[in-house]
Amino acid sequence: LMHLTRKLIEIRSILLSIDQSDSLKLPSIVVIGSQSSGKSSVLEAIVGHEFLPKGNNMVTRRPIELTLIHAPAAEGNAAEYGEFPALGLGKITDWKEIQKTLVELNQAVPAEECVSDKPIDLRIHSPHVPDLTLIDLPGYVQISSLDQPEELKEKIANLCDRYIKEPNIILAVCAANVDLANSPALRASRKVDPLGLRTIGVITKMDLVDPEAGAMILQGNRYPLHLGYVGVVCKPTGLSAVRAHLGSETPNMTGAVMRREEDYFGAHREHFGKSSNIMVGTDTLRKRLMDVLESSMASSLHSISNAVQLELEDAQYQFKVQYNDRRITAESYVAETVDQLKARFKELTAQFTKPEIRSKLKGMLDEKLMDILEQLYWSDKRVEELTALGNDPKVKPEEVDSYWRYKLDAASSLLTKSGVGRDSTQLVADGLRGLIESIASGEPFNYHPQTVERIIQFSHAILRERLGVAADQVENCIKPYKYEVEVEDREWTTGRDKAQSLFENEVKMCQDKLVEIRKKVGGSRRLSNLLEYVRSLEEQERQRSLQRIARLKSGEDVDDDRPLMLDSYRYSPAVIIDGRQALAYSNRLEVLKLRLAALKSKRCRAGPENDVLCPEVFLNVVADKLAYTSALFLNIELLDHFLYQFPREIDSRLMYDLDRKEIAKFARENPTIRDHLDLQERKDKLEEVSEKTLLLCQC
Ligand code: GDP
Repeated sequence: LMHLTRKLIEIRSILLSIDQSDSLKLPSIVVIGSQSSGKSSVLEAIVGHEFLPKGNNMVTRRPIELTLIHAPAAEGNAAEYGEFPALGLGKITDWKEIQKTLVELNQAVPAEECVSDKPIDLRIHSPHVPDLTLIDLPGYVQISSLDQPEELKEKIANLCDRYIKEPNIILAVCAANVDLANSPALRASRKVDPLGLRTIGVITKMDLVDPEAGAMILQGNRYPLHLGYVGVVCKPTGLSAVRAHLGSETPNMTGAVMRREEDYFGAHREHFGKSSNIMVGTDTLRKRLMDVLESSMASSLHSISNAVQLELEDAQYQFKVQYNDRRITAESYVAETVDQLKARFKELTAQFTKPEIRSKLKGMLDEKLMDILEQLYWSDKRVEELTALGNDPKVKPEEVDSYWRYKLDAASSLLTKSGVGRDSTQLVADGLRGLIESIASGEPFNYHPQTVERIIQFSHAILRERLGVAADQVENCIKPYKYEVEVEDREWTTGRDKAQSLFENEVKMCQDKLVEIRKKVGGSRRLSNLLEYVRSLEEQERQRSLQRIARLKSGEDVDDDRPLMLDSYRYSPAVIIDGRQALAYSNRLEVLKLRLAALKSKRCRAGPENDVLCPEVFLNVVADKLAYTSALFLNIELLDHFLYQFPREIDSRLMYDLDRKEIAKFARENPTIRDHLDLQERKDKLEEVSEKTLLLCQC
């Protein structure tokens, strides 16, 4: 039968590790008692080592699920050790270390929670322990004090109530020198087990009372328990001296406790002798616990077996319905995710073709070009003169005023020296960063923020490493254009087409803005009135400023705050701002239309010899050349490198860098995968348990 407890404890451990429902609970021994009743001393005497947290003040804040496994010392292995399966710390042979870990786990419960019902799973392997499962609960608080408030008292009582339910066996610990009537442990047990069918009383500190009185308690006449009382003397005296001598290698103390008890109970044989039918001693207690647990487990076997069967069928059904019996592993999920990442990367980078990059760069340069045109041409009062020259067929390009020649050179140089290397590299790098971010924000990466962080970091690192080199290379390769740009007829023709469409867009933009403002001010008549008003306002402002300058030159006082001579109440300041904007747009529109007409003229169509008269076309050709050359080198210096490096970094930094634990953690970040894995594990474990219980039932 010994076999049975052992097997069932194994089953119990498996069931504990899955989220088990109450029906699956195999009986365990629950240890309750008030603080200082000697609860820890009894447990330690059974285990044979000091390992429980000590101290007056709430040392146990969480239940400890203590599984004792009787294991003969295997060759070369530590005979006695503890293990916290949930922590993955491995075998711990130093009992001080176990104690420290328990203290830390208890202290991790936030003070405002007082106690937690999340049990600590501790397994102890030793040739000196019987196969037993014991649950140590926080001790009942009897007197509330400042640091142990009323609320705590109640929380502990509730926690104990949850654990002393059927089918658990209750070990009610009471000190011999305290009246049993005052024992909260017995009181709680009587509520759920009035006949004491599953309660064992343990009377500690037998050495502190008169042997006759002690024997009376153990007879249990006052508070009868079907399973009876066991008297013990567990005070671990004399052991500290031994430990100090041996360091962490503490000897098993069960023997010492037993000898003490033999001495004590032997000395009072008349009260505790065999004939008296009274149970005393830790060894008796251990045997009693084994017997009771075993028969309790045996009687639970059939109902457990049935319950497991039902749970299993449910899990199998769910697994079939939800996942069509498809098995997955954390590893396969990681591999799949990496494949997906690479595929997505490949798919998106396919957009980064040379023509695509070139057109993006051209777009950027077009903006620069329009800014330069505005700065150098549109705001020049002589731009009409340039247009007139262009329209006069008798004017030869080489006869045009050198003013315009300088202007064209200045404009071209502004464009070629605007930091094209830096800006174009930045543009492509930004595009790649955006691409990575768009991959990272989609399924399933939204579940893995840390991984995304890493992907983004190393992709940025690859780019950063190349940015400087790429920018320098591009800048180097466009250098010749800073001195001279040769334009062929074919280039001129496309340049002119592009310039025309740029201007058409710009015209459209200005018109749209004007329409917007017209709507805002309430119609075209009002807009033209407003424009007229703003025009004369600006003219007055100009005049006044000229006067000021004149006065300033002649040393007169320039302080002049008189309002301008317009009826300033006609328009609100906000409308005047709209008016000024509308005026600016309409002036711009006039120039644009003028130049657009020039672009369409015979002269601008003719060819590159007209560059001075058609600066827009010339600059467009320059921008096009710059874009072409930049795209060419960025492709080599930045893009190819990134496309090569990124997938390799995924392999080396995302895949092969992870250990099993990290892989499991990663997979479980995705709720769909986590649910799948959980159900699969539950099903597997229930299958294992089911097989084991069926075998036991057949015996
Ligand atoms: P717990 O708070 O219920 O876990 O109680 P402990 O096991 O820490 O014991 C409380 C105090 O009683 C400690 O100082 C123990 O040394 C002492 N004690 C425990 N068992 C005995 C015993 O059998 N005899 C005597 N004299 N003292 C004991």
